[in-house]
Amino acid sequence: MIRLTAAQHQFLIAAARAEHPHECCGLIIGHKEEQDWVIDDLAASENLSPTPAQNFEVDMRLRLRLQKELRGTGRRIIGHYHSHPDGTAKPSATDLKSAWEDDMVWIIVAVTAIEAELSASVYSDAFSEFAKIDIQVTD
Ligand SMILES: [Zn+2]
Repeated sequence: MIRLTAAQHQFLIAAARAEHPHECCGLIIGHKEEQDWVIDDLAASENLSPTPAQNFEVDMRLRLRLQKELRGTGRRIIGHYHSHPDGTAKPSATDLKSAWEDDMVWIIVAVTAIEAELSASVYSDAFSEFAKIDIQVTD
């Protein structure tokens, strides 16, 4: 299970809508409470992919800056998010191919002109696959 606030949920959908038809992307800052992931903050990244309608690439400089800032705070980068414009809210074949970091949370926001849907998965390097996890939106 991953927990996020209603405001964070709205932020993700708004980011996906704003970048449509390109993919939005960013980093997820959070921590673990027993088995659950808890999102503390979301950091939007410019999508540096040369083909932003089909792919995403988070700015590595943003990641390095956040890692430095988060040192010693108990919070860390637990994953990243990106959108699937007019797609489905599940990891694509391309996502699976580009996944390499173990225990990384992937949030995917599928957006069309009228609908939005979120999914969350954790990538396991040992099994080379994504495991879907439940999303809980809190106040
Ligand atoms: Zn994807």
